Amino acid sequence: MKIAEVIVDVSAYPVDRPFDYLIPDEMEELIECGCRVKVPFGARNILGFVVGIKNDTDVPPDKLKPVSSLLDIEPVLTKEMMELAKWMKNETISYEIDCLQVMIPSALRAKYEKMVVLETDAENLEEPLRTVFRRTTKANYKELEKQNLLIPLKKALKEKWVSIETVVKQKGTIKEIRKVKISEDKDFLQKVYENLSNRAKKQKQLLLWMQQHAGEIIEPEVIYRKTDSSPQVLQAVIGHGAAEFVMEEVYRNPFKKDVGKTDFFTLTEEQEKALQPIVDAMDNHSPETFLLHGVTGSGKTEVYLQAIQHCIQQGKEAIVLVPEISLTPQMTNRFRSRFGELVAVMHSGLSIGEKFDEWRKVHHRKVKVVVGARSAVFAPFENVGLIIIDEEHETSYKQEDSPRYHARDVAIWRSKYHRCPVILGSATPSLESYARARKNVYKLLTLKERALKQSLPSVEIVDMRKELKKGNRTMFSEKLAEAIRGRLEKNEQIVLFLNRRGYSSFVLCRDCGTVMQCENCDISLTYHRYNEKLKCHYCGYEQPVPAICPLCGSDHIRYFGTGTQKVEEELTKLFPGARVLRMDVDTTKRKGAHERILEDFGAGKADILLGTQMIAKGLDFPNITLVGVLSADTSLHLPDFRAAERTFQLLTQVSGRAGRAEKPGEVIIQTYSPEHYAIQFAKAQQYEPFYEREMLMRHEADYPPYYYIALVQVSHEDLLVSAEYAKKCTDYLRSRLSFNASIIGPTTAGIVRLQNRYRYQCLIKYKIEPNLIPTFLQLMKIYRTDWMKKGITLTIDLNPTMI
Ligand code: ADP
Ligand code: ZN
Ligand code: ZN
Repeated sequence: MKIAEVIVDVSAYPVDRPFDYLIPDEMEELIECGCRVKVPFGARNILGFVVGIKNDTDVPPDKLKPVSSLLDIEPVLTKEMMELAKWMKNETISYEIDCLQVMIPSALRAKYEKMVVLETDAENLEEPLRTVFRRTTKANYKELEKQNLLIPLKKALKEKWVSIETVVKQKGTIKEIRKVKISEDKDFLQKVYENLSNRAKKQKQLLLWMQQHAGEIIEPEVIYRKTDSSPQVLQAVIGHGAAEFVMEEVYRNPFKKDVGKTDFFTLTEEQEKALQPIVDAMDNHSPETFLLHGVTGSGKTEVYLQAIQHCIQQGKEAIVLVPEISLTPQMTNRFRSRFGELVAVMHSGLSIGEKFDEWRKVHHRKVKVVVGARSAVFAPFENVGLIIIDEEHETSYKQEDSPRYHARDVAIWRSKYHRCPVILGSATPSLESYARARKNVYKLLTLKERALKQSLPSVEIVDMRKELKKGNRTMFSEKLAEAIRGRLEKNEQIVLFLNRRGYSSFVLCRDCGTVMQCENCDISLTYHRYNEKLKCHYCGYEQPVPAICPLCGSDHIRYFGTGTQKVEEELTKLFPGARVLRMDVDTTKRKGAHERILEDFGAGKADILLGTQMIAKGLDFPNITLVGVLSADTSLHLPDFRAAERTFQLLTQVSGRAGRAEKPGEVIIQTYSPEHYAIQFAKAQQYEPFYEREMLMRHEADYPPYYYIALVQVSHEDLLVSAEYAKKCTDYLRSRLSFNASIIGPTTAGIVRLQNRYRYQCLIKYKIEPNLIPTFLQLMKIYRTDWMKKGITLTIDLNPTMI
């Protein structure tokens, strides 16, 4: 008797453990750990992952149900991933099934069809498969299953005679092109030739050519061109059996252009010094974590590239994580131009099908390097030699939904598993990481100079309060306007950055002061000019801009806030000849728009690039000599203890876009709070003093990195119910945690009502709290057994990025 341990896909069950199922005889040789199955659960048949196979079970025979069907004949998860999920579910207080699901591409969660593809000559196969594959090079898996051929199929798979491909049944299926397979049998071709009448000149001509190319598989267009024949002629020849159409699968190519090849630079002394310990760690199989702190333009990427080169030479694989928004073609091209076909790229700009293709390149070991956003940390390589996280301070490395994992933690876990180093790189490391480097938990590597010894740009602060006093009511200080004018004259490029985090352009009635609000959430609606609508950025609710105030009926409706569109209008008024490219959520909605804007700017098709957070990172254009920050303040006043850190990071990053080549760069930062230390240190472009100062603040307020924090949130449609259960949570936590942990709350969340649910939260600050995870798990169990039925939603977020 064989028993499969299965993690099932139910999210409303209090117990998170594998269930035992009997493996039916016919599946015994097929099932492996890491395969997905369908199993009966209650009245339904649901998805599950096989995480173990054993010989006995405690389940009484009359209760033991069999696995209903097997979805994968080859495992989709490695042993490592299954172990990782076990660790992750506790670290993130989530279900194991959610952890497993997040590791596989979404295409595998969609409806799909499996095909078995012939990888050898059909004659090499054993019967009965030989008969099947004499007829076709690609067979439907379901058909083979029906014919009871799975056991010979599994053997053929092991021998690599055939492979399994998955076709997603939706947009973005595996792409195929039609080709012509010319018969291998030259004598037969000759016979067809001889049997044709002399009037079929074109056909004869084609057959002569085919004899030269017997057995080849060729695109029809090539045949038409080479033989000057038409589709009709080819069709006729195929009719005589001299050739046949075959479908050949191609991997979609998400890369539009060929990027050529670039050579490795000779490293600077600083870069060399940073690379050496990383190379040593690789050679010694030492799972060390390095923090590579290098100013903008110091050549961190070059260090990554050469470390990866070493990794490949060792015969191992490398994973490179970059934040979603800096995953620009400029960035990925740097990897592709060095490692060519060995690179797979994974990011949300790809279609489901394209993502799936990239994942399969990794799964089938067709590539050695993955460059991708957060979830690429799960790339199913089995011989990882190096993991790199660029811009490690970025908040997008933390997933906001369950499982709330941080890519850095997963990377470090995997590095221990594979005994390989991790590199965290940043010009502005997170306080947590830098503190760890100070304590030698991470090894600190520093690049103080820019790679080409360019000086850092000069940074100037403009006090906008004074501008207002001078009577300047535009968004541009005199200083900035003058600098822009100068650059336009010299044909140099300008980047204007609008800090819009936590900012919105809202609509207000000037008579009664009413701000238009979302129907479902307690926040103001944002005005979108392109479709003249008001939109809620949290729930997606949309309405037209009212002509009159819904409260008092006045028609004095006014638009507030500085959106990029408004800046653009003002720019064109002030600088009539200037060519402006705008990059924000509106202009980058269409696939590929982001790339096109950057390409155009790089090609000099515009003078000014105006944008939001999106332009803060990764831009490396030599002609940018001026960076203007229109409003440094908006992120400074967010009710979040990381507001200063975020502002400093953002200002440093945007400043780093200027003067990256020979021409020196200038940065002008406009602000209403010029005295704030985050702004002052950003002006000085010094990380260390900022770090010292910010650490003091954190120390005083018991915030990270001195304390860890966890956020427990409760929501319900009814305000009182929500408050009641938040209180229950807090009481429970107080009863279980030590006196060293401070439990703050329950309080209402920053936005009390979201999507018509009222939200309460409780914040836990702690240092060492051995009972924390067990307590949270227990709380989760209570929630799943009881509270869930009452309509409560409970989330637990360890180390939240925002509060
Ligand atoms: P960072 O990632 O630290 O911002 P980059 O890797 O983008 O820095 O390097 C900045 C610029 O310097 C790039 O244009 C890069 O091609 C160039 N560069 C980096 N290292 C070297 C080197 N050793 N020799 C010459 N140029 C270099
Ligand atoms: Zn009004
Ligand atoms: Zn809303």
